[in-house]
Amino acid sequence: MPRPKASPKVLEDVQKQTLEPARETARAATQAGTALPGKKKSVKARAPKKETDKVKKARALEILSRLERLYPDAQTELEHENPFELLVATVLSAQATDVSVNLATPALFTAYPDAHALGEADLENVENLIRKIGFHRTKAKNLIRLSQLLVERHSGVVPDDFEAILALPGAGRKTANVVLSNAFGRPAIAVDTHVGRLSRRMGLSENTDPDKVEVDIEALFPVDKWVFTHNALIFHGRRVCAARKPLCLECTLREVCPQVGVLE
Ligand code: SF4
Repeated sequence: MPRPKASPKVLEDVQKQTLEPARETARAATQAGTALPGKKKSVKARAPKKETDKVKKARALEILSRLERLYPDAQTELEHENPFELLVATVLSAQATDVSVNLATPALFTAYPDAHALGEADLENVENLIRKIGFHRTKAKNLIRLSQLLVERHSGVVPDDFEAILALPGAGRKTANVVLSNAFGRPAIAVDTHVGRLSRRMGLSENTDPDKVEVDIEALFPVDKWVFTHNALIFHGRRVCAARKPLCLECTLREVCPQVGVLE
């Protein structure tokens, strides 16, 4: 896929305020001998220090525009057919891969298609159906209780309400935001491990606390793009900007990314 072009003004500002300071850090580390031995150009890039809010916002919009070209159909990769299934799948996805969740949920949803059925499920049976997913015992317990509470408080229907979802066992901010955004189309940014990592590498947030990253990202991207933004960042994190081996040389965001904390 051809590399998308940034507007000349954005690139000029990004070069001046973001990439040049990062490269200066690299040069200084090399000269000071603090770069990794045997790898002359290998240094840790640091967060751009003097980037103004205006330039950061322009850079975020350029990142967004490139993500839109790269992943026009980005959406959650958790397979589901309704809000209840997405809620259950998202609870299961904590510290587990979407692939492992998608392998388990068809049988789970066939056995227990709604909150009424899952709320009355046998614990051991649910554990067996999700046994290949990490923390399956705790998650099975949470899913049964969550379903019972959905029946007691919301007539078995997943509420279109952040606080109400947050009050369910096994559901944190990320779960509530995934469900609200992907099942109800509500503007929300769900910060998982990919969104957090990419936000820091791209110099869009310096925070490690997901709640703070959420606030940082919300301030940089248009509200009507929040759902797309977090889904596209997850796509990019899985396909290009992996935790251990980010493919910076092949990355179409490279011109607008300071690669904070990445060894080149
Ligand atoms: S792969 Fe490298 S250039 Fe691309 S977003 Fe990740 S850190 Fe930035």
